[in-house]
Amino acid sequence: MAQSPLKMLVVEDSEDDAFLLYSELSHAGKGIKYRRVESEAAMRAALSESDWDMVISDHAMPEFSSLDALHVLQESGLDIPFIVYSGTIPEQMAISALQAGVQDCVQKGNMPRLVSTIERELENAATRRAKTQAELHVHRLAYYDDLTDLPNRNYFCEQVQQALNRKPQSAALLFVDLNRFMRLNNTFGYSVGDAVMRLIAERLAKCVADKGLLARFRGDEFGVYLEYRDSTQVNALADEICAAFTPPFMHDNLEFYLTVSIGVASFPGDGHEVQALLMNAASAMTLTKDLWRSNYTCYAKEMGDSSARKVVLEAALRHAVERDELFLQFQPIVELEGDGIAGCEALVRWRHPELGVISPDKFIPLADESGLIIELGAWVLRQACDRIKRLHDVGYDWLTLSVNVSAVQFAQPQLVAQISSVLAATGLAPQFLTVEITESVLMEDAELAIGTLRALKEQGIKIAVDDFGTGYSSLAYLKRFSIDVLKIDKSFINDVSIDPDSAAIVSAIAVLAKSLKLDVVAEGVETREQLEMVRRIGCDRMQGYFFSRPLDIDKLSELIAERHPLRIAVGTRFQPEQQMLLA
Ligand code: C2E
Ligand code: CA
Ligand code: CA
Repeated sequence: MAQSPLKMLVVEDSEDDAFLLYSELSHAGKGIKYRRVESEAAMRAALSESDWDMVISDHAMPEFSSLDALHVLQESGLDIPFIVYSGTIPEQMAISALQAGVQDCVQKGNMPRLVSTIERELENAATRRAKTQAELHVHRLAYYDDLTDLPNRNYFCEQVQQALNRKPQSAALLFVDLNRFMRLNNTFGYSVGDAVMRLIAERLAKCVADKGLLARFRGDEFGVYLEYRDSTQVNALADEICAAFTPPFMHDNLEFYLTVSIGVASFPGDGHEVQALLMNAASAMTLTKDLWRSNYTCYAKEMGDSSARKVVLEAALRHAVERDELFLQFQPIVELEGDGIAGCEALVRWRHPELGVISPDKFIPLADESGLIIELGAWVLRQACDRIKRLHDVGYDWLTLSVNVSAVQFAQPQLVAQISSVLAATGLAPQFLTVEITESVLMEDAELAIGTLRALKEQGIKIAVDDFGTGYSSLAYLKRFSIDVLKIDKSFINDVSIDPDSAAIVSAIAVLAKSLKLDVVAEGVETREQLEMVRRIGCDRMQGYFFSRPLDIDKLSELIAERHPLRIAVGTRFQPEQQMLLA
């Protein structure tokens, strides 16, 4: 039996009988607390005011009966054993009471039977409770997210589909994705990531409140379902969510600044099924993410063919060229023998006033598709040649410059003329310029490529094949073209110090390249092990974070000045010509 006193609600019109029951049960060794009620109202009040282990009811009372009392209990929805304890109970009455849900009927005065009935029913009730608990637990596992206690994707999809089946006038599905949350995890570890995720869930829950249903899908994705009359309600909620991310999240005295990307799809316009709406909201979210800021985008039909998305980015890119949002960085290319800086590769950057610096991997393909690359490429070439010529002018006159030329740029008929006019205008001598192209450029239209390459060579310009190893990688085929430099892709270099196969491949490429009289540049050298390996393998030069990240022109000039003090007096300093940088 339970250690703590049994809390018993006694439905009984006689105070004396109730006390007698109490005394007898106490005598039989039961610790008991009881309260007597004799009307519907009093019983209701008692049920709502405290927890009861048991209801023991007289059968017939002036204002109340055991069946009435049972109804009150059943209405309350509580699972409490109900025992009728009464003088004579007609057989038929007892049967109908049991059928109605009474656990047992015990004759007044039969104490041993009452005690064993109470014990049995308490045990049964405990078993029922444990079973409900287990069911609840299983339900939680299937439908809730452990970390944040929010509903999970399963629950969300089921509930939203049911809601959609009821055909609301209009509804919206918001797909909320955290920007760069993985970076937080990677930097601070998962326990910090989890703690911040809980704070995020709390803030989102506050925004959504009872306006709609919020769920955590997985990782850093959330969903919100909202039924509305006026579409401004959706915008208001999206705005509110974005605004909720303005203050930092605090954990362990650290401040975390996060932003979200939101995509919105509406019912019935963007779909009738939860899956279709989810997909459309997710694709709208991707567009938001491409624009890289805390904001939201509504799904538009045209986005299906992704043309709307391009239009948005292209417009922004066009402005970038017009508004001087582009700038260049230069990454040093270093001799592996002697460790001197041989030259640098120009890499274009886009600094959007609101979106921050956007990587060329994102916008070069778009510039290619839209044709903007012609204008952009011309600007890069002009700017880069001009910068390097100025370094030549102050004495660093051996520096080479590599410039990337995309497939679209390479295919334009005026490329050669454009390059020579830039060289003429800036005064940079052609032998210092290397044009970097990828293999695919050569494979697409070999005849055209051979012609263009020959024209460039005739001017003294050098040609490098970029990202070698990622495409066709046929050295025999490359023989047909007049190539000067092979740049081995960083993915190979990445593996070189750990994977003997990669090392063997790079080594074989270097040997073959040598036989074709090509210079070999290792790209993406990040560690000393990789450096030593590519040097041993026979690469001529290297480029990578181990030596330097891409730098602004001023930083590049400083680095060159440091490594290569000029022999001609600059101020009053005279220093050895080259220092052993990597020794
Ligand atoms: P790419 O020509 O292969 O340029 C090298 C890329 O590798 C650069 O990325 C550079 O920052 C990165 N990198 C250099 N060293 C390391 C290293 O040690 N480890 C790692 N993980 N990465 C390293 P970035 O600047 O993001 O440029 C990406 C690509 O965008 C370039 O690849 C190039 O294909 C294109 N691109 C950049 N600027 C221009 C341009 O002016 N015109 C054209 N057509 N394409 C450009
Ligand atoms: Ca390159
Ligand atoms: Ca490359």
